[in-house]
Amino acid sequence: MRLSTLFTKSTKEAPKDELSFNARILIQAGFIDKLAPGVYTYLPFGLLVLKKIENIIREEMNIIGGQEVLMPALTPRQNWEITSRWDSFDALFKLKGFDSKEYALGATHEEVIVPMIRQHAFSYKDFPVYVYQIQTKFRNEKRAKSGLMRGREFIMKDLYSFHMDEDDLENYYQIAQKAYFKIFERCGLLDKTFLTYASGGAFSKFSHEFQTLAESGEDDIYVCRNCSIAINSEIINDMHHQCPNCKSKKLAKERAIEVGNIFKLKDRFTKPFSYVYIDESGKKQPVLMGCYGMGLTRILGTIAETCHDDNGLIWPKEVAPFTVHIVTLNSREAESNNKVKLTSEKIYKELKESKIDVLFDDRETVSTGEKFVEADLIGCPIRLVVSERTLAEDSVEIKKRDEKETELVGLDKVLKYSQ
Ligand code: ATP
Ligand code: MG
Repeated sequence: MRLSTLFTKSTKEAPKDELSFNARILIQAGFIDKLAPGVYTYLPFGLLVLKKIENIIREEMNIIGGQEVLMPALTPRQNWEITSRWDSFDALFKLKGFDSKEYALGATHEEVIVPMIRQHAFSYKDFPVYVYQIQTKFRNEKRAKSGLMRGREFIMKDLYSFHMDEDDLENYYQIAQKAYFKIFERCGLLDKTFLTYASGGAFSKFSHEFQTLAESGEDDIYVCRNCSIAINSEIINDMHHQCPNCKSKKLAKERAIEVGNIFKLKDRFTKPFSYVYIDESGKKQPVLMGCYGMGLTRILGTIAETCHDDNGLIWPKEVAPFTVHIVTLNSREAESNNKVKLTSEKIYKELKESKIDVLFDDRETVSTGEKFVEADLIGCPIRLVVSERTLAEDSVEIKKRDEKETELVGLDKVLKYSQ
């Protein structure tokens, strides 16, 4: 992508009316645009990151047998009445259609998926079933001051699993946990993300959250450093202030962001829909269910909150909008300026042909200082400078975003250093 043709602009100052750090820096760097509290547009850079997160999640969900669907956002009142959530789910956005029909904008999809799967899986031969989607959710959140952390419209991956017995549910629950950690590893959040015991509601003793340490987090968790396990403060009393694994009472209180959660719903939603299967002896049995949520846009915000320095964002490699940011420094002298331009173009083409994601600062009217400031703000992992000075040594200058040192690298080695 060429900065000379990109329609978005970064700004010198962060927006003053935005309270959260993640939204401030992402708006300043040109990744997102704010329409209203909790409602954002994903601009080209932001969308590139979001797509990378989405693809990581999709790959890992497919590996654990998930089959992808896309459910509607418009969901009839009747389904929410069946599960008694029309009145109790207080964040539902409700709207009226014709003929006094009412709808909720999908805030979660148990009410859609259960009656849908029931049409397809009804014999013991049909189980287990794992289905997921990556879709926009709507929630009328009371507080929407945390930028991407708490959207009124946000993107979630929701996986639902359907089982014939509790052992099978438990087994898949463990598999899903591992897949979640794989996702957080690939998103660059593994070392800060803890499996966290949380209240399980009426249906199981615990649910599990995946909490990423961050000062700006909305949750308090108690971390056991020995086991990399945490307990949400809301249930810490029930757990007797003790690590469930090593029983240590040395727990450190930390702020954290819930980036995902998994839940054994058992028959909470299958029962109201009278969803049963026929076992081998022809008897009807309850279908048991698990659900596994993960906020894509919240992960994007969490990376912004936790991966930056005073100069800007520092994207983990696999989710960076671009791996390489080429900065062309203009020369006053026409002949050397031409050489710098031609060499930059050649490198840009070569990297693109090698399927490396490249941002090319080919702008001719922007100063060197501004280009460097912007490269730091945008935060691609590798900055590559082409200038009269570097070309005098048949080289380009390479700098990693998370390191201070620069290095001159021969023109023949640019590809190797850009991977
Ligand atoms: P929270 O306690 O933060 O409100 P939740 O318990 O309501 O989250 P779920 O309904 O299970 O969460 O949603 C699954 C995942 O979706 C969460 O773990 C989080 O990553 C994400 N999520 C939930 N609400 C929002 C929101 N308003 N904005 C962005 N992401 C969200
Ligand atoms: Mg919530």
